Amino acid sequence: MRVTKKVFTDLALFMIGFGVLIGIIFPFFVRAVGIPPEHIDAIFIAMCLIAGIVVGTVNITLARVIVGKRMKILSERMKYVITSLERLDDINPEECLDKCMIPVDSEDVIGESSRSFNDLVTSFIETLQSEQSMRNFTEIFTNELDLEKLSEKALSHLLGYTEASAGMIVIDKGGTIDISSSHLIKNPEKIKDLDVIHKSFTHGKRMFFEFSEDITIETGLIDFHPKALLLEPIIYKGDVLGIVLLASTRQFSKIVLDTLHVYIHGLSLGMHNALTHDRLEQIAILDPLTKVYNRRFGMERLKEEYAHSLRTDVPVGIMMLDIDHFKKVNDTYGHIVGDQVLINISNILRQNLRQGDVLIRHGGEEFMAILPGASCAEVAKIGEQIRRFVEEHTVHYQQQEIKVTISIGGSSHPECEISSIEDLVQKADTNLYSSKDFGRNKVTISA
Ligand code: GH3
Ligand code: MG
Ligand code: MG
Repeated sequence: MRVTKKVFTDLALFMIGFGVLIGIIFPFFVRAVGIPPEHIDAIFIAMCLIAGIVVGTVNITLARVIVGKRMKILSERMKYVITSLERLDDINPEECLDKCMIPVDSEDVIGESSRSFNDLVTSFIETLQSEQSMRNFTEIFTNELDLEKLSEKALSHLLGYTEASAGMIVIDKGGTIDISSSHLIKNPEKIKDLDVIHKSFTHGKRMFFEFSEDITIETGLIDFHPKALLLEPIIYKGDVLGIVLLASTRQFSKIVLDTLHVYIHGLSLGMHNALTHDRLEQIAILDPLTKVYNRRFGMERLKEEYAHSLRTDVPVGIMMLDIDHFKKVNDTYGHIVGDQVLINISNILRQNLRQGDVLIRHGGEEFMAILPGASCAEVAKIGEQIRRFVEEHTVHYQQQEIKVTISIGGSSHPECEISSIEDLVQKADTNLYSSKDFGRNKVTISA
């Protein structure tokens, strides 16, 4: 029943009104119980009315102090939550938890509504935190195309979110499993070959263990096994791109396990982009058959190394290498076997070059090697080593044994009076043809 638009004003009207009513009824009541009428004079009636008004006023004051105060706190906290919601970006969840909560100091409907309000705020803060975390995570994979950096950032975020102590991300790189990032896992190289990782790739389903002896968490001081281990596949359109492994010293909470798949779904999109980018980059710079650098990329690298040599006077050597009578290999064994010989020889060349040297398929059965820092003498030494290695090597392919030799020509800047890149390549080429002219299976390095 409402009289005005204010609950406490209504209450005041009813309480004081009721007091006045009692003040009016009371003299009749007094008369009915036998009090002589001479005692019920105007002063007595006025006193009854005043008493009724005083009781009503005290009641409403108490209601305002006891109930009203709590309602005021509730309304202030609600206002604070609403204001925080309006400026979502600078909301501080911890501060909000502190400032939004209502003290629960009664076991009645007021205590109950305070508790419900606090629960509402807690779940709102949790939603907010997880939304913020998700937003940060989304930023990682929309801004990062480098697979390793993406994995590192994603792993660090997932470790923070799940409160796991250690973890790693492995990816399938065209049949081989590679570690793309790892944190505090001991011997990650061994872990990636575990059966359980392979199973996770095959099944494409989450695997969870209460304890794992296979995994060791490395803290620097002591090593220990995790109490909970989670393997989460990163799936894109049904293909398992990789596995996230999380190792924790305590059990993962249900909410973390429930929401983790949302993160992993986002990660799968980012990882697919990064893998595609990686593959495109590879296609752009690698020769598809031998997987050594293609000529276009190789020439760019040569320009860089030559410029570096000009600036620093550190020599740069190059070698042109051509398989002898390769046409005969094709004619005798067929083109497919010829391809295998090319792959085989390119592997030998790679193995005999130093770290930092650049191997290029210059065309057909001809390769170029850039040897930063190598003088003519060093080019000659490495060239001779390669020549001998190829000569002594036998290519085995489907019960066939094929032997080939290689001719090499080399030069080096700033020796040999080289004045340009073209000059450098030209000299090496001329030397290669000298090796051919002198009977093949030879190395020629001269001015
Ligand atoms: P030389 O000792 O003078 O270098 O003789 P050669 O037979 O090696 O040289 P030639 O230039 O006459 O022949 C090169 C051959 O290499 C011809 C070509 O079919 C073969 N070739 C080039 N690229 C490929 C390839 O990708 N795969 C295969 N199987 N053969 C290739
Ligand atoms: Mg040849
Ligand atoms: Mg040739």
